[in-house]
Amino acid sequence: MKPETRIGYGWDSHEFKRGIPLKIGGITLPHSKGLGGHSDGDVLLHAVTDALLGAVAAPDIGSLFSPTDPRWKGADSALFLTEAVKRVIAAGYAVVNVDSTLILAAPKIGPHAAAIRSHLAELLGIPPDCVGVKAKTPEGMGTDNAAIAHAVVLLEKKAVKRVSRKVREQH
Ligand code: MG
Repeated sequence: MKPETRIGYGWDSHEFKRGIPLKIGGITLPHSKGLGGHSDGDVLLHAVTDALLGAVAAPDIGSLFSPTDPRWKGADSALFLTEAVKRVIAAGYAVVNVDSTLILAAPKIGPHAAAIRSHLAELLGIPPDCVGVKAKTPEGMGTDNAAIAHAVVLLEKKAVKRVSRKVREQH
């Protein structure tokens, strides 16, 4: 018997680099530096993607979307998240809620948190009040040139057929 609920956890970090846009949670934030990486470097979307994949014991983001594969060069990380949501649904589950914490010295996330929450909610197909986005500065960690994201997700069991139809309508 499949469990009624499952949890997932994801973590990621990316280094700040000059001359590239800063994307966090699918939103482009005004800042002098962006996050480096093979894709668009969206640390929050990567952590949430790994949390979703982990919740259904799927391969992790690096295994599914290799950082050496030219197909994912500069890719919109929403693609990875969407694939993870599809795998959750295929496993017979639906996303209940997501919580996340960003750790970065700058920029301040507070003014953008509502926009990030509602965008993430849209990508996940859940209401914005089921998405937590918190931010901390890396006090004493010496990671001022990196952005770190932690994410947890809760899934609940759904009838595969019903959820699949809902997803066809969404995508
Ligand atoms: Mg990453």
